[in-house]
Amino acid sequence: ATPLAMMMGTGTGAKRGILIKDAAALERARRIDTIVLDKTGTVTEGRMTLTQVIPAAGESADDVLRTAGALEVASEHPIARAIATAAVESPHFAAPGTLPAAISGEALGDESPHFAAPGTLPAAISGEASGNGSPDFAGATTPPAAISGDPLPGVTDFRNVEGLGAQGIVDGRAVVVGRPQLLDQWSVGLTPELQRAFDEAQATGATVVAIAWDGAPRGLLAVADTVKPTSAEAVAEMRAQGLDPILVTGDAEAPARAVAAEVGIDRVIAGVLPHEKVTVVTELQQEGRTVAMVGDGVNDAAALAQADLGMAMGTGTDVAIEASDLTLVRGDLRVAADAVRLSRKTLRIIR
Ligand code: ADP
Ligand code: MG
Repeated sequence: ATPLAMMMGTGTGAKRGILIKDAAALERARRIDTIVLDKTGTVTEGRMTLTQVIPAAGESADDVLRTAGALEVASEHPIARAIATAAVESPHFAAPGTLPAAISGEALGDESPHFAAPGTLPAAISGEASGNGSPDFAGATTPPAAISGDPLPGVTDFRNVEGLGAQGIVDGRAVVVGRPQLLDQWSVGLTPELQRAFDEAQATGATVVAIAWDGAPRGLLAVADTVKPTSAEAVAEMRAQGLDPILVTGDAEAPARAVAAEVGIDRVIAGVLPHEKVTVVTELQQEGRTVAMVGDGVNDAAALAQADLGMAMGTGTDVAIEASDLTLVRGDLRVAADAVRLSRKTLRIIR
């Protein structure tokens, strides 16, 4: 191998948004026949939004969202973000410790916050704004919607249960949110009605989590992610190069299948716990395959390191990037197909 040919490979890579950490990985990439793709954040945007709140019989949707939101404020997980954001943005609740914009004065159009100058009344309250017919003035006398709602309670004893969900104490309630398997650990099962609703919501491609507190199931929350617009094309390019794409995810079978169908992947390995992703890669290698893996999360790091070629989304976590041979700077899955093609071409030049 000439250093020049290798440099040409890495130089072209940089132009396409591929950062090459380990050039020796390109040698291994030549034989790649299988590409393992993480779902959330890799094939999909990884930005979830809350689409449904389903309370159990006798519970209210508001209480379910308020309690789940209060717990999930403490978690970084994309599902947690979606739930906490929906709760904070709900007109019924306000975030703990954060004053809504209307109180800080921004919503009244003041240049300075109300409390910046003690002893001076803000314009809206002192009456100067009263003659302008601005609907904002109502904010000075009538509490805005966000303040009229209950504040979200705080959470204590928060614990993230890797690959399963989260738990903590909210309003004196022992709350758990996540996969039904996590509820099982607390000896809480779904009622037949909730199980039916769970299956129905999942069949639409949403990811559904359950919430329980004080030993009983209280409802379900469905969040949905969107497939990246470039993912289907990327999978087609991988197939055109003779690669066998496999979707691997900690998410459940039904939403994983929905995403796989959308991008043209046949083989899905779902419900994989974070520490099991590496086992999936090892087993494929034991079958005699040469495996590339693309991922973005902390839970992908070990698998990325184990793969013959590990590719991290540049939009992902530092842990995933450190574990990988290549970084796809823009988080575009098509570039993973480019990287494999580029490595084959570079090696042709070398030989
Ligand atoms: P992925 O492999 O798709 O990135 P994870 O391993 O991070 O998924 O999570 C697997 C599953 O665990 C999620 O689909 C969800 O059901 C559950 N889960 C994990 N963390 C949370 C959380 N903070 N709140 C609710 N559910 C969670
Ligand atoms: Mg991920």
